[in-house]
Amino acid sequence: MLPLLERACKHDQLSAIIDQQGKYTYHDLLTSSRNIASHLLNGRNDLKEAPVAFLVPSSFEYVAVQWGIWQAGGVALPLGTSHPTQELEHIIKDSNAQILVTHPEFEDLLLPITTPYALPLYLTSEIPRSEKSTLPNVNSHRHAMILYTSGTTGTPRGVVFTHQSVLAQITTLIEAWQWTQNDHILHVLPLHHTHGIVNALLCALWAGATCEILPKFEAIEVWNRFIRNDITLFMAVPTIYSKLISAWESTPEQERLRMSNACNKLRLMVSGSAALPTDVFERWKHISGHQLLERYGMTEIGMALSNPLHGERRAGSVGLPLPKIEVRLTNTSGQILTEENQSGEIQVRSPGIFKEYLGQPETTKKAFQDGWFCTGDEALLEDGYYRILGRSSIDIIKTGGYKVSALEIEGVFSTHPLIEECAVVGVTDKEWGEKVCAAVVLRSNSSLLPDHLRHWGKERLAPYKVPCEFLIVTELPRNVMGKVIKTTVKNWFPSL
Ligand code: AMP
Repeated sequence: MLPLLERACKHDQLSAIIDQQGKYTYHDLLTSSRNIASHLLNGRNDLKEAPVAFLVPSSFEYVAVQWGIWQAGGVALPLGTSHPTQELEHIIKDSNAQILVTHPEFEDLLLPITTPYALPLYLTSEIPRSEKSTLPNVNSHRHAMILYTSGTTGTPRGVVFTHQSVLAQITTLIEAWQWTQNDHILHVLPLHHTHGIVNALLCALWAGATCEILPKFEAIEVWNRFIRNDITLFMAVPTIYSKLISAWESTPEQERLRMSNACNKLRLMVSGSAALPTDVFERWKHISGHQLLERYGMTEIGMALSNPLHGERRAGSVGLPLPKIEVRLTNTSGQILTEENQSGEIQVRSPGIFKEYLGQPETTKKAFQDGWFCTGDEALLEDGYYRILGRSSIDIIKTGGYKVSALEIEGVFSTHPLIEECAVVGVTDKEWGEKVCAAVVLRSNSSLLPDHLRHWGKERLAPYKVPCEFLIVTELPRNVMGKVIKTTVKNWFPSL
């Protein structure tokens, strides 16, 4: 039996999932997922690593389908409930999905995609509750999951994991963040991405903890849940923390104190998937008493770097390598950097790394250097802690012979009292190679002139890092994980 399921048998009557419909024990989860597995098998002995795509809202049902696919010997391929039809179609075709499982809410969306391929489409509402077949014995070397990359820097690719690699990712985080069965996480993240699937959901289920799933993030709803004083853990992306801060700020003072006190009782609050602006780190500390634990990871590798659970958490830094993870920096010629205060590409080696890009052996091979995965992210090692400078392809701007980090410039401008958020990009320029440009969102009822911003920047940054163009906008384009879609921002500025 797969180790995750074996542990669930031991946790039997403990509370596993809470969703809008009710509470479910580990026993309920095992029973429902076995039932789904039998239905998917439909008389076969084993799905033999067939990809099974599923589109189910965040709920107990989502988890039962995921575990059902695993128990039938299939590969779980979660689809994003917010994915546009074109992306769903790309993923279903590219993965060569053999079966589709969906909540009835998405049937009309999926039928036009599945019908031309005669793909079996199962509705979760129509799966009988008491099917029993003999389930295959699935070993940990087999494929478990395919996650599609977000596609912000290229076409989405299928990233394949074995059960063993998923397990390695889970146990790394269990050890680092000391999950126990007394934990109760409030889950608000999308469930087609590693952050929501591994860090929040599967870690909770491995530990025997309770995972309370909200169908989607709503700031007020989250504050209301904190106030009930039973949540111990929360994980989110920086934009979620910004929204929680705004909700807190627009609440009457008396109520704020109650919110802050409740939040202070959680044992751990984590941020990741995008850079956490130092300003958000500081404001959150003021509101909740928590120093957010920022970590760095990627779909292909799971989590690699994290500020410590106990010990110094540095704002603007993603901390140190997690247990069982090796991290190194290399320069553009692939040489390993041995000194601190040099920036280079993050390369990672660990048992949790993905197996391959689906159907892309050449791309898979190119992604590794001597067995180390090349992340494409640049970082600086300062006093043992890593600071992310951004993705080499988009956040590292080469201007007038200097190499500058968009994240560093964003970090500085986000401390301006009238700036809500900003995105810095490099735009092709005849004179500079690339020129530094910034799209800025101001706090409500504020106004600022580009000249003021330029002047303010010059007092805090080297002159070549100060954006030469500023654009005041009302909103930044973001994907569902809260990452700014920089390719869109770049197009806002004319290139010369
Ligand atoms: P994804 O594969 O969608 O999880 O995206 C991974 C990418 O998100 C990484 O390659 C980084 O560029 C970025 N990322 C993740 N965590 C952080 C962080 N704490 N700070 C800055 N960038 C991050």
